[in-house]
Amino acid sequence: MNNASPDLPKVLYIMGTARSGSTILEILLSKGKGVFGAGELTSLIQDGFIENKQCSCGSSCADCDVWGRVSEILKLDKQELEEWAVLQKKWTGTMGFLNSYSLWCLEKILCVTGS
Ligand SMILES: [Zn+2]
Repeated sequence: MNNASPDLPKVLYIMGTARSGSTILEILLSKGKGVFGAGELTSLIQDGFIENKQCSCGSSCADCDVWGRVSEILKLDKQELEEWAVLQKKWTGTMGFLNSYSLWCLEKILCVTGS
């Protein structure tokens, strides 16, 4: 049964262990028209929002059309981001934390792309 709203973007969640090919799969799929590869969401807070590293589109996170807009709309607070990063480091590898964190990221993405 498909409960997805036709107005919201469809989300494909790719998860794999290190060197399993999930990144290559994402790169290939994101070459398709209308497809956006979000990258490794587990790195988004530390590498993207805190350290402003380069996005897969080639721009810095702050200058990226997607993540820059996400950051702008959410008015991300540096202290909250750093608290999330500490929790992530502490609980990385714990499925419950990773699942809730990933879902949090997806929810934020959908809020932005659905607006
Ligand atoms: Zn980008």
